[in-house]
Amino acid sequence: MDFAEQRKKLVERMVASGILKSKQIIDAFLKVKREAFFTEDMKNYSYVDSAFPIGYGQTISQPSTIAVMLELLEPKKGQKILEVGAGSGYVLALLSEIVGKEGKVIGIERIPQLANRAKHTLAKLGYKNIEIVLGDGAKGYAKEAPFDRIIVSAACSEVPQALIDQLANNGRLVAPVGTRFMQQMQVITKNSKGKLKSFFANGYFVFVPLISEE
Ligand code: SAH
Repeated sequence: MDFAEQRKKLVERMVASGILKSKQIIDAFLKVKREAFFTEDMKNYSYVDSAFPIGYGQTISQPSTIAVMLELLEPKKGQKILEVGAGSGYVLALLSEIVGKEGKVIGIERIPQLANRAKHTLAKLGYKNIEIVLGDGAKGYAKEAPFDRIIVSAACSEVPQALIDQLANNGRLVAPVGTRFMQQMQVITKNSKGKLKSFFANGYFVFVPLISEE
């Protein structure tokens, strides 16, 4: 099976299992070549629904986990979105497809080699509305704040306050929150007046940790 066919099959399975629901998210998964974010030796695993090593002790997130997060995040066309923990850049590419040309996606990554590789991969694929920033994502990215959506792609014991502060009114944030070996998705929303609400979605996940001095 070639990659295009494997991609379609993986998406069909996620739709059939009820994880993937929204058209804009399904379309993004159908479009983005996950194999482009794998190192050469790992490419054959590109459409296995699992996390895989991308070097430096980090992993590319599992597709069905990303699907759960994106469904909770409710990203829309034209939005400005921040991802903390850009890693391979795969989630940024999915978000870029969803926000489109009028939107903007910013990814923060603390490991320089990964930030550089993600930059290179995304440029090669032709993405123009994605910016990769090297730094500590727990501090957010004040320069581009506020954000309509914030997605945290590494495990934290609680959502860093800076991220909540940098969430726009009517914004939504999704983060895996819990202990080192088990997290649940926390969704934080800000209404039009800036009032916060929060809930934990069903299901448990294991992410690599958010490493921060904060
Ligand atoms: N969405 C990525 C997931 C990468 S794993 C993908 O699909 O490829 C999580 C990433 O978060 C790792 O690359 C790790 O280096 C990064 N990370 C951990 N703590 C961070 C922090 N404080 N700031 C920015 N990036 C961080």
